[in-house]
Amino acid sequence: MNLPKQSKLSDPESRVAFGEKLLAWYDEERRELPWRKDPSLYKTVVSEFMLQQTRVTTVLPYLERWLQQFPDFSALAAADEETVLKAWEGLGYYSRARNLRKLAKEIVALEEIPTDAKSWEGFPGIGPYVAAAVTSISFGKPVAVVDGNVVRVLSRLLSIDDQFRDGASAQRQLRPIAQDLINEDRPGDYNQALMELGATTCHRQTPLCTVCPVLQFCRSGSRGDAERFPRIAKRKIDRVTVERLWVVQDGCLLLRRTPSESKRLAGLMELPRPEEAPSLPKPRKNKLLTIKKRSIGNQAIEERIYEATLPQEINLDDCPDLFLMPVQDLDTVTLSAPHRKWVKDLLASQ
Ligand code: SF4
Repeated sequence: MNLPKQSKLSDPESRVAFGEKLLAWYDEERRELPWRKDPSLYKTVVSEFMLQQTRVTTVLPYLERWLQQFPDFSALAAADEETVLKAWEGLGYYSRARNLRKLAKEIVALEEIPTDAKSWEGFPGIGPYVAAAVTSISFGKPVAVVDGNVVRVLSRLLSIDDQFRDGASAQRQLRPIAQDLINEDRPGDYNQALMELGATTCHRQTPLCTVCPVLQFCRSGSRGDAERFPRIAKRKIDRVTVERLWVVQDGCLLLRRTPSESKRLAGLMELPRPEEAPSLPKPRKNKLLTIKKRSIGNQAIEERIYEATLPQEINLDDCPDLFLMPVQDLDTVTLSAPHRKWVKDLLASQ
């Protein structure tokens, strides 16, 4: 997708003026965030990994603890995976933590760290977004970042009427436009400014157009129909029901470690599902303890947790993924955030 010809921003002088306005606003108004204070490559990389699919306010305490525990690439590379996953517990999308550790190992093994986005896309867990963010912020490369905030701002600036299939496809299609608009003198600040504008001013609902620094360049802001954009097709929601077992025996809770080949949750502990081992009991309707609801991607999941007892004949030595974990030691294992909460609630109610 290219800059529409009728847009003010198709004129090179307006593009320069747009970038200058945005940067002047950013210099005055930006939030003081830890990765902006004493910036370093390591801080930028860690914060960009954490910020994917996670809000700034959620990331802040994690980042602070993380930098204390793993202050640089070498410390992270030397840590074992279990320790790294434990430090990530509650942030979700755990492949990010595993990839960050792998990336640290690769970085410390290099004689020279590459500075271009293409090379960074070859590192574990790095897609076009993180590659552009890291190389523009840390190495001053003029590569445009496109995330959800940027999609929203660009779609409104240009009143883009095309409907995108989903957020990822909007990011892909808008990348050439974002690249045309980038300020080559301060690309890292420019990228952060555009994202900051989306996060603090160009809200999804009720954008603050009257105080927006780039209102004069914005088609939909001037027309007053900004909330119509971006036009992204509604996702079809799949409803899924999952059954889980709650087995407490001699002060221990039965948990299952998700196998290493699992894409999303490898190495994390969860309440077991009856189908995960043939010797596990089947749930009984009259033993339903609670129903929890959550969403992952386009799935609306109903989790039904049943009280159960292990059959006498079960030998857990034959089930390497199942553990009876002493309740007082539960803090030492890594549970996904919803499981941590369910376990806490259920233990408190008993
Ligand atoms: Fe967003 Fe309004 Fe600013 Fe346009 S003028 S970028 S719609 S806040």
